[in-house]
Amino acid sequence: MKTDMDAPPVLGLPLEAPAVNPNCGVCAALARQRADARAAGDFSKVADVNVELRSHQAAIS
Ligand SMILES: [Zn+2]
Repeated sequence: MKTDMDAPPVLGLPLEAPAVNPNCGVCAALARQRADARAAGDFSKVADVNVELRSHQAAIS
């Protein structure tokens, strides 16, 4: 009998949210989208925006 449980997806935690550069318009726009999504309870959107932030910051660093 299989008894191992699936790890629950971690939702709603601000885990490793990328730092936002306050001097960067793209970061600011993404941070606003993320805050809006979080306020709406849309955590898959929050995760999407975090991915965008990370790839944006990787692209410019
Ligand atoms: Zn940026």
